[in-house]
Amino acid sequence: MKNQLSDIINFIKTLYADDYIPLHRPVFKGNEKQYLVDCIDSNFVSTAGIQVEEFEKDVALFTGSKYAVAVVNGTAALQISLQLAGVEHDEEVITQAVSFIATCNAISYLGARPVFVDVDLDTMGMSPGALDSFLRKNSIIRNGRTYNKTTGKRFAACCPMHTFGTPCRIREIVEICNNYGIPVVEDAAESLGSFVENQHVGTLGKLSAVSFNGNKIITTGGGGMILTEDQALATRAKHLTTTAKVPHPFMFVHDEVGYNFRLPSLNASVGRAQMEKLDEIIRIKKFIHDKYSNFFKDAKWNFFTAPDNVTSNYWLNVLFLESAAERDAFLKQSNSDGVMTRPLWGLLSNQAMFQDCQRDDLSNSQWLESHLVNIPSSVP
Ligand SMILES: *Cc1c(COP(=O)(O)O)cnc(C)c1O
Repeated sequence: MKNQLSDIINFIKTLYADDYIPLHRPVFKGNEKQYLVDCIDSNFVSTAGIQVEEFEKDVALFTGSKYAVAVVNGTAALQISLQLAGVEHDEEVITQAVSFIATCNAISYLGARPVFVDVDLDTMGMSPGALDSFLRKNSIIRNGRTYNKTTGKRFAACCPMHTFGTPCRIREIVEICNNYGIPVVEDAAESLGSFVENQHVGTLGKLSAVSFNGNKIITTGGGGMILTEDQALATRAKHLTTTAKVPHPFMFVHDEVGYNFRLPSLNASVGRAQMEKLDEIIRIKKFIHDKYSNFFKDAKWNFFTAPDNVTSNYWLNVLFLESAAERDAFLKQSNSDGVMTRPLWGLLSNQAMFQDCQRDDLSNSQWLESHLVNIPSSVP
């Protein structure tokens, strides 16, 4: 029986024989440098040229998404997705408190406010049970639109997140939201390579956002992608993220306030090389997960494994300590010993900007906040 924190730290050191072990390091073992040089030699380093469209095709093909629109980062992808789902100023978006700050920032950029419901412990993502009971208690439907009984504001969208790469119960969430006419925008920032049965996450909601930040499963340095099955939304996404310029060989006419959010070719060329390695990366991530899983089999702590009907990319592995005090001791000991570990993000519902937003019971979210740590999960 393994029951000393040092057992865990020593195991991580055998898994990654290195002086300093980061939480998640990017891998550039393919054509990244070559494609970057090619891109520079072509002079098309900004958004014009073929690189960005080719990268979009690669991601669409891999995910099975009909359309993919590349943008500068995952936060921008989320912001535009929410806007295209119809979120407006002074409306509300139902989301989870367990997420990175970007989820609520994107909602806020539109002048909307988040409302928090709890997560399931076995997925760490939004709980359809909690969502259903929250909507039953708190919503009123008028003219096919669903409003918050307490605030009088419209529930303009629902934004679940696939935490650390493990799919949430997205089919159930979409079904519930359909009953209320609420569009679902998936925060799939962490979950490229994750599937529900055989369907890639991010293709079940109306729109979704993927991130290619440096610490994600693949990276373009910085970058993001909007996924959708809807051609009209994809066209709007491209238009809005490229300054809403009306196509013309030389005239500059813009038909709405757009954004300069398109991914540059330099980043896209790295992305194309990364996509060539994605299957291999996911295979190795599963291998690392299985190594941990095997180690923790006869340990006193619970190690997170995704439910049977989903495939997680295991972006970041998750360990549950027995108490907040033990968690703090582990964080301190591992980080001072060159093994980078991290607690859960502070709950979004507790951040200063969102403290007065409505929240349902968040017991599971609170439990995760006090027990969860992420442990090193890089491809060695
Ligand atoms: C990384 C991340 C984002 C934002 O992506 P960026 O590319 O860093 O802007 C959004 N949501 C979640 C849950 C993330 O982990």
